[in-house]
Amino acid sequence: MKDKNIPLEVLYDKTYECPVCDTTFKSKAIRSRMNKVVSTDSDLYSRFDNVNPVIYDVIVCKCGYAALSNCFDSLRPKQIEWIKKSVTSKYKFTYYPEILTEEEAINRYKLALLNASAKKARNGEKGYICLKIGWLYRDLGDRQNERAFLEHARQYFMKAFSSERFPIFELDELTTMYIIAELSRKAGDFDTSLKWTSELITKPGIPARLKDRALDLRDTLREE
Ligand SMILES: [Zn+2]
Repeated sequence: MKDKNIPLEVLYDKTYECPVCDTTFKSKAIRSRMNKVVSTDSDLYSRFDNVNPVIYDVIVCKCGYAALSNCFDSLRPKQIEWIKKSVTSKYKFTYYPEILTEEEAINRYKLALLNASAKKARNGEKGYICLKIGWLYRDLGDRQNERAFLEHARQYFMKAFSSERFPIFELDELTTMYIIAELSRKAGDFDTSLKWTSELITKPGIPARLKDRALDLRDTLREE
């Protein structure tokens, strides 16, 4: 597994305080200046030269509370109550090593998804988690699970689009439109893909790189 041989200096310990059980603990984070993008898949899954940041983006406390790193701290009192009732009270402790495999990362994302459900998270957050799970299954060559989670992501993003604020983590409105269009193509839903692509291309202020990708996608759709 390539991530087992990563240069260790790329990772460092970051301290978190669990908002559910108040425990302080450390989790691995990535020095982004030591990690460069080398390529990007058609649905914007970026490949890095040293460490795949997707693997380390879910923070898990020993109590069973888990969330994406940049929203780990933000829980309302009511959400803490919901998580205690439906997640942490039933959670069986799982040990995770410091260097994670794709399989371990997927389990952490699934726990984050369970927490997202318990805390009644927005569709955008659930979509984002499913997108990352789909990508990790791609790395494992598990096409069936990849497809299933990318489809969940697509459905959540489409719901988010009509009712939620952007950005969804690092995904702005136009990037999310592109991802919906590309995931629709992958799902064989060409009409939906073309609808989102056509709308995206005409958006004012679309960055050139995203427009190029959208135009390529439209060409592919015409061929398919
Ligand atoms: Zn905790």
